[in-house]
Amino acid sequence: MDKNQMLVYLNHHTRRVKMRFVRMMLRLLRRTYKFSTMKITRNIFRMKMKNIPATDDESGDEEQQAERLVRRDLLDGVFSLRQLFCSGSDFKKNIIKYILKTRHNVVYARWEKEKLEAKCKGKGCHWEIYCSVENHIGKWMVKHYYNEHLCHPTGRCELIKNPIIDDLFLEDIRRDPEMSGSEIKYEMKRRYNIIISPNQAKVARRRILDRLQAECDEQFSRLRDYELQLCTMNDGTTVEINTTTRDDGSEAFSHMYICFEALRSAWKQNCRPIIGLDGTFLKHSMKGIMLIVVGRDPNNQIFPIVWVVVDCENNPNWEWFVRKLKEDMGLGLGENITLISDMHRGLIHSVATEL
Ligand SMILES: [Zn+2]
Repeated sequence: MDKNQMLVYLNHHTRRVKMRFVRMMLRLLRRTYKFSTMKITRNIFRMKMKNIPATDDESGDEEQQAERLVRRDLLDGVFSLRQLFCSGSDFKKNIIKYILKTRHNVVYARWEKEKLEAKCKGKGCHWEIYCSVENHIGKWMVKHYYNEHLCHPTGRCELIKNPIIDDLFLEDIRRDPEMSGSEIKYEMKRRYNIIISPNQAKVARRRILDRLQAECDEQFSRLRDYELQLCTMNDGTTVEINTTTRDDGSEAFSHMYICFEALRSAWKQNCRPIIGLDGTFLKHSMKGIMLIVVGRDPNNQIFPIVWVVVDCENNPNWEWFVRKLKEDMGLGLGENITLISDMHRGLIHSVATEL
């Protein structure tokens, strides 16, 4: 085989390996999430080969583009004459974005079912915008827009009230529930250069914590639906949710075990018999511990296999987890399996008992 033949062979071989890898990934995606392979490949080819947009969403004139931004909730705080909005609340959202962007004290001068008008309250300023329903297209349209400020932004904006502050800091407090009212006030000034009162910040914090708690309660109340959905979408998936009964007779969450069939079979077929077991604390109002089992895939990357949520890391919980794992993964008496762990006493005890 000469040099050229060798290059052709190598090129052909690499392409085959790549195609095999792509096929494997698509199979895994389809098995795990029931994705439509045709749709994925069609979009990839449309994007790559023909250099045309992946969906019809990317083309069109300025008005259509503005409408698409509204639809995707990506309003940018910019207005133009004859701009369209899907609803009055989209127009209002864009007003808030405009305020956050420009710091001008814009307020509503008129708010009716099918008409909205906003003006700048700055001294001697004539900035104003009027938007109303355009019946024949069923959308809201900017009919009048005078875009010139004669005022200087002071950072005090009447429309930046608690519901707006709640939305702005929801994710921050989700990540760090210890964030205080004064930190919210400081961040509001730092990020948007807008001044809010200490009381507004305090109320926002309390409202966000209440909202997060309600969200958490709702998620717990839908755990059985989640279990059903997981089993329907991925045959063979193991889900176990255990509850305890409170004094008043209602059910309280206790343990949850999840192992996707796609992950289990992929680990058995393709990965080395090495598993790592560990636990991590769950923060916020939920508390508890998440115990995880991971393997190593053929590329030596972490491969998640099983995860559970328990109230604490103790002997009975580790024992329950290792027993479930043994049954579910068919680990037998632990022959030919290498375990990696942080040597937690509960884990050592349960491995000694079960494997
Ligand atoms: Zn102004």
